[in-house]
Amino acid sequence: MPSPRSAGEIFDELKQTKHKIVIDGIECYIVEGDLRLDAGQLLAYAFELAEREQARAGGGSGGEQRQPLVGIVDDEGRMVRWKKGLLLTYNVLRSSFASDADYQTVVQAMRVATADWEATCGVNFKHLSELDGGVTPGGPAPLFQVKAFDDGSGFIAVAFFPDEPPARRTVLIFPSFFSPTLGFDRAGVLRHELGHVLGFRHEHIRSEAPALCPDEPLGNTINLSDYDPRSVMHYFCGGVGTRELQITDVDRDAARKLYGPPDKDVHYFD
Ligand SMILES: [Zn+2]
Repeated sequence: MPSPRSAGEIFDELKQTKHKIVIDGIECYIVEGDLRLDAGQLLAYAFELAEREQARAGGGSGGEQRQPLVGIVDDEGRMVRWKKGLLLTYNVLRSSFASDADYQTVVQAMRVATADWEATCGVNFKHLSELDGGVTPGGPAPLFQVKAFDDGSGFIAVAFFPDEPPARRTVLIFPSFFSPTLGFDRAGVLRHELGHVLGFRHEHIRSEAPALCPDEPLGNTINLSDYDPRSVMHYFCGGVGTRELQITDVDRDAARKLYGPPDKDVHYFD
C-alpha cells in the first residue's frame, strides 16, 4: 500500500491534473466531473482526501461508512439548504449560447427539470425570462444564472451549492450538452445539476457504489437515504446509474427530509 500523501502534495497534484477554468474572473478547478472549486475550496478538498488516505493507511474505515442520498452540512453540523419559502429564480443567458436552438433546448430542459423537483419536494423555481438578455448592474437579478461555457473541454455541465457566494451561483452548460451523441436525457442532466443547486452531493461517493465510480471526499456530508444506484445524483459508472437521471422514490423521500413535501401537497393557512 502506498504511504499516505500530505494535503499539500495532494493539493499540488490536483492543481496539475484537474481541469482549470476562469469563470467571472475567478480561477476554478473542476472535480468529480461537474463541481467547480476555487483554490481555497480545492485546498480543503485536498485535506479531506489526505485524511481519508491516512485513515486507510492506519487500517481505519477511511470514509468507508455507508452513505445514502448525500446532503451537505456546515462546520457546526447543520444541514445546508435554501431559506424556507425562497423562490429560486434563474435566467438563461441567451447571448452565451452558440445558437437560438441551443438556448431554447436549455430553456425547455430547465422547465422540465425544475418542474420535476417542484413535484418532488418543497422548492419553487422561476425562470425570469425577461433577464435572459442580461442582467443590468444595480437592476433586478436572479438567484442564479444558466449560461453556456466553451473552453474546449469535454464537460457536460457544472453546478454550484447553496453555500456558495452569489457571484459563483452559475450553472455552466458546455457544448457536449448539445451533442447528438450525448447519450443522456438533457432534462435529466439538469435534474442532476439542480440536485447540486439544492444541496445534494453525488450518490456514487458512497462506499456501496462500484469501485469504478469516482472517489470523492465525504467531509461535511449527511446521509438522507439508503444507497440508491438509480439516484438522480448517481453517475453512470461501474455498470450502475442511469442515462435518464430520473428522481427516484428514494431521492424523493430523502429530498423531503431537507425541503419537506411539495407545495401542491400542502394546504397553507395564514
Ligand atoms: Zn454532479
